[in-house]
Amino acid sequence: MLSLRPLKRAVVTAGRRSCSPLQRHMSRHFGSLSRAGDLVRRSEYFIPTAKEDFHEAAIPSHQLLLRAGYMRKSSNGMFMLLPLAIRVMEKLVRIIDKGMAHAGAQKLSMPFLLSQELWEKTGRWATAGGELMRLHDRHGKGYCLGPTHEEIFTELVAREVSSHKQLPLTLYQIGTKFRDEIRPRFGLLRAREFVMKDAYSFHADTDDAERMYNVMDETYSAIFDEVGCEWVKVEADGGNIGSGKTHEFHILSDVGEDRLLHCPCCGYAANDEQAVGDVSGPVSSKHSTVYLAPVDLKAALANSAAEAGASDVPSGMLRRFCVAMPEGQTVNAQKVANAVGCEFELGEVDVGELPNIDVDVEHLVDQTLAQSGATGAFDDSLVGDFRLAQEGDLCKDCSQDQPLLARRGIEVGQIFRLGTKYSNALGAVFDDAKGRKQPMDMGCYGIGVSRIIAAVVESSHDDCGIVWPSSLAPFNAVVLTTGSQKHLKDASQSIAEALANSGADVVLDDRWKDGFGYKLSEAELVGYPFVVIVGRDMHPDKGSGRVEVRHRQSGDVSVITPEEVVNLLSPKPVSR
Ligand SMILES: [Zn+2]
Repeated sequence: MLSLRPLKRAVVTAGRRSCSPLQRHMSRHFGSLSRAGDLVRRSEYFIPTAKEDFHEAAIPSHQLLLRAGYMRKSSNGMFMLLPLAIRVMEKLVRIIDKGMAHAGAQKLSMPFLLSQELWEKTGRWATAGGELMRLHDRHGKGYCLGPTHEEIFTELVAREVSSHKQLPLTLYQIGTKFRDEIRPRFGLLRAREFVMKDAYSFHADTDDAERMYNVMDETYSAIFDEVGCEWVKVEADGGNIGSGKTHEFHILSDVGEDRLLHCPCCGYAANDEQAVGDVSGPVSSKHSTVYLAPVDLKAALANSAAEAGASDVPSGMLRRFCVAMPEGQTVNAQKVANAVGCEFELGEVDVGELPNIDVDVEHLVDQTLAQSGATGAFDDSLVGDFRLAQEGDLCKDCSQDQPLLARRGIEVGQIFRLGTKYSNALGAVFDDAKGRKQPMDMGCYGIGVSRIIAAVVESSHDDCGIVWPSSLAPFNAVVLTTGSQKHLKDASQSIAEALANSGADVVLDDRWKDGFGYKLSEAELVGYPFVVIVGRDMHPDKGSGRVEVRHRQSGDVSVITPEEVVNLLSPKPVSR
């Protein structure tokens, strides 16, 4: 029977279950065996909520995280994360740490400041472009604020690991990263300073690197399942980090920056740049041609080339492509880039823009056009898949005519096979069993930690506020009263403490004089999974009665006894 005696203590802190002398001894050394939840008083806890909208926020997650008191803008693209956000992040970090431990990865911490010298060894100091935050120390030595940490992890392992017996090795960190976004927006989704988990694995051979890729694939799936949002894994393009196999993990949301094509039948999913599909219906044998050139060529033309002539343009840029497509279809510039080995993004170039430069035009033909029986001067052309796949294309992996669906996603994780690119550049070699020096085969695995917080809010909110999945909610419940009578105060305090003792994290809204409607609106805005309302069903005399429990996600309301509330909310063991 739950006691509803009022608390003696002025400040309610996390409760503790009674335990045996052995448990007490062990908990002194190893921490509490069965963790009591946290209990805070709303009047003392820093949650600066706001009634008015923030003008700088263009999407719901940004607006809600500001209004519900999770964060404030510091400067453009940078944020102060407040106590509620830190609690969410800590829960997320616990989920990620558990997954990494399961995958055999070991946690460490790397500096934010990375030396120019190190980045020059891989050539990335020159190729990273304007998004790299660069600075100098008082001695004039160059640094960047790390956007990713391949170089320094590889350097560490190159120094400390020399034998195949020390491999495989997987290391990771969770820390702040920096990117000089040209236009930061959407709050934590496109910030200049953000929190990432990045892991790097080192292997004696390709098979073992492939094994770890699959382990991370499964681990990521388990992590995103535990976060509790709708997510998909998609085939992706390696971009400039690596050149090998890669998959992205997206939380599905209408505001996602990436367009994904998804087969509901077999689960095939790929992002825009990578997706393949069969055109449904007849293909036009009429075709249109699109001229493409590297975007750098356009920049060069705009600056000096038009006057100075081709000699000022690096030779790698002097390529121009003419792609023949069936009418009504769109060229996928990334597929062209992959096929012709062009390192940079492609842009359309008007023929008239090339007055003083003699550039050969390379001809390409999309395979659907070639297969349609279209005739033309295609003999010298490279035939391939250069078409941007569309919603309604038929899935290539399904034998049935299954149309692909378009969804939008927020990228929150990516896994890469790096091969030996970094180990070769940084001398990460080991002696194999026969004493021969070999470069280590590497993989890297990222999760956008602060990004997930925004992505989850984006995919899980309503008109009243945030709807946290229980995995990430800053607190499991808030306990509030409909009035300020003594028996309501006493009962709410006792219920809050009983919940904390059972392992739930609880806010006791002790602003007794404030209106019930105001407190309830705030609870819905903040997004606690459960709101426990102590009101008219609580008996003033015997300290017995019932309370109302509102489940934020389903909207279900139940009127139950305080004991039943504790049973309902106490955390269930999570197994993996
Ligand atoms: Zn399919």
